[in-house]
Amino acid sequence: MENEYLGFDTLLIHGGDIYDEWGSAVTPIYQTSTFKFKNAQHGADCFAGKEKGYIYTRIGNPTIEALERKLAILEKGAGGIALSSGMAAVTTVYMTYLDKGSHILSTSAVYGPSRGVLESHFAKFGVEATFIDTSIIDNIESNIRPNTRILYLETPANPTVQITDIAKASEIAHKHGILVVVDNTFCSPYLQNPLELGADIVLHSLTKYINGHADVVGGALIAKTEENVQKLRKTMIYMGGNMDPHQAYLVIRGIKTLSLRMEKAQENAIIIAQYLENHPKVERVMYPGLSSHPQYELAKKQMRGPGSMISFELKGGYEAGVTLMNNVKVALLAVSLGGVETLIQHPASMTHASMSPEGRKAAYITDGLIRYSVGIENVDDLIADLEQALAKI
Ligand SMILES: *Cc1c(COP(=O)(O)O)cnc(C)c1O
Repeated sequence: MENEYLGFDTLLIHGGDIYDEWGSAVTPIYQTSTFKFKNAQHGADCFAGKEKGYIYTRIGNPTIEALERKLAILEKGAGGIALSSGMAAVTTVYMTYLDKGSHILSTSAVYGPSRGVLESHFAKFGVEATFIDTSIIDNIESNIRPNTRILYLETPANPTVQITDIAKASEIAHKHGILVVVDNTFCSPYLQNPLELGADIVLHSLTKYINGHADVVGGALIAKTEENVQKLRKTMIYMGGNMDPHQAYLVIRGIKTLSLRMEKAQENAIIIAQYLENHPKVERVMYPGLSSHPQYELAKKQMRGPGSMISFELKGGYEAGVTLMNNVKVALLAVSLGGVETLIQHPASMTHASMSPEGRKAAYITDGLIRYSVGIENVDDLIADLEQALAKI
């Protein structure tokens, strides 16, 4: 394929798609659990990999494969696998490269369950995990152990919006033979390509920007080498975290407008971040598109734009957060992010309410912290919504 000559937007529309013998304009849904062999020899050849043929949907399916190819093209990898959720992608990568007595070094402000599953489940199997602020690059080398297998980065991290230098971190990890995995959910390939910066594997919750319409849960892993693609696929086939064909069809449908959605949401986010930064009831705004962001320069170098996730701190603490939540009318009071609809949430009273105050503090979840995922509505409506709700504080 001449993909290297095609632009990102063209690849979003056409990359990896299957056009069937009837001339379908889009990849059809192959809603089938299993596939007929032509005869016994054909079955044997498919299993042996001598002939390209589908066997069983957990192993492979044309609709799912079309999505895998599209994602691999967009992230510039050798290949990829699509999974039932972002967490299935996280556990598949852990399961593939960690074993008894091994160690993983991870960003401290990583997506909660990506940390939780290490502490609750992988610890049972003798896997050690250390969580550090990877945005301070010197922290990485000093925390590497002889048994470290994975450096797991999330950048920008949530909800602190700290940014890790992927190129520098990869260089350090590779000196020690450590695999670098980057959760690229917050950026999507539209804003950042970790494999080009030196990472080995990219992870996505497709639930967020890539599908973009808050109607599918899904995940993906894209690897730089074919060898790693095969290793990951083997884990997926055994552990059963595969995607379903209908899910894959919806994600292929959603991803086609990724550039348009990202561009519009980012345009809105830049205006809203500036509005919030000047609002008297807001203590500070954490957004890589503001020059007040501590890693503004690194963000400009590493990302093609600041994206549309904003965190901000209210002066009034916990009570102010609750008041804001109870008064917004356009933004939806919900977890998740990266959809066409604007979502708002207050971690201290919602997602992290069951955590101890000390635990929240360690995870940088302050009482007045608000997470705001900017959608593609009219920006004037979003600002008017915030204005009236902030006035109630
Ligand atoms: C949502 C999310 C995940 C988990 O994905 P699911 O699709 O919800 O399983 C992982 N990482 C990040 C950064 C996320 O936002």
